[in-house]
Amino acid sequence: MKAPPFAYARARSLAEVFDLLDAHGEKAKLLAGGQSLLATLNMRLSSPELLIDISRLNDLSGISVRDGTVTIGALTTHAQIERSAEIRKHLLLLAHAAPHIAHPAIRNVGTIGGSLALADPAAEWPACCIALDAQIVVAGKKGARKIVAREFFKGLYATALRPGEVLTHVEIPVPGPEYRSAFVELAQRRGDYAIVGLAAVARPARGALSDVRLAFFGVGTTPVLARKAMAAMEGKRASDDAVAASTKALANDLDPMADLYSTAATKMHLARVLTGRALTSLAA
Ligand SMILES: Cc1cc2nc3c(=O)[nH]c(=O)nc-3n(C[C@H](O)[C@H](O)[C@H](O)COP(=O)(O)OP(=O)(O)OC[C@H]3O[C@@H](n4cnc5c(N)ncnc54)[C@H](O)[C@@H]3O)c2cc1C
Repeated sequence: MKAPPFAYARARSLAEVFDLLDAHGEKAKLLAGGQSLLATLNMRLSSPELLIDISRLNDLSGISVRDGTVTIGALTTHAQIERSAEIRKHLLLLAHAAPHIAHPAIRNVGTIGGSLALADPAAEWPACCIALDAQIVVAGKKGARKIVAREFFKGLYATALRPGEVLTHVEIPVPGPEYRSAFVELAQRRGDYAIVGLAAVARPARGALSDVRLAFFGVGTTPVLARKAMAAMEGKRASDDAVAASTKALANDLDPMADLYSTAATKMHLARVLTGRALTSLAA
């Protein structure tokens, strides 16, 4: 199918974006990498009157590290994150997650801001941001505000973004050198959206894990921080018993929805398998 007709404006500044959003309200849509939006237009799932192209706003692109925080601009592509030496040095979880996102052609154009704003429950970046306790920064005419990642995703393709706001960047605290991360995902084929995935962070010390964070994706309408499973593992060695207790506790954290490929029970089983793999890897 072809996209319905729409007007197009290439924004030259954030101020211009705010003016256009103000004038056109919900009839306007931001265009970043276009890798999800253009598909929804072509399938006529969305029919905005105006596309505001933000892809030339260079201030919204790039990766910087300062005072223990990595800042990633909304327009930074998945491929830039994948190839960044700073990301590999400070946020290895993202480096490990990036190759799971779609295919190189899509990663070259798709952006982290687009992925977070879209809030696909099977996407990798939202779960990574929750695992790393990121702050998502949005701005509008009235100023900027920061939203902690675990509160940003409100439902299926729904976020805390308000009308007139643009996601500008993400701020991620650099975990200390004593922290480790694990990224595990099951998909039909490499590059497909996840059936189930898990972004995990913990601090191993003397064989035990503390500050455990387990963020699942592909299991519900939003990414999920599995607090009960995290608590069950806190301060414990990754023994068979502790891992079993943590995976058992997942029943209180996750309420998976069936999708085209898997029943809810299969997803729960896969989430448990991934938890075991991630915890063992974190403790190794
Ligand atoms: C075949 C295929 C496979 C894919 N597989 C995966 C996968 O495995 N994992 C995965 O995570 N993704 C996958 N994607 C999606 C891809 O990662 C997209 O790049 C991403 O979801 C959206 O980023 P974008 O820059 O292309 O955003 P766009 O498509 O331009 O925009 C997406 C939505 O976000 C809004 N938006 C964009 N930027 C902003 C902003 N800065 N502020 C506020 N709103 C904004 C837009 O208005 C739109 O509603 C796949 C896509 C395709 C086509």
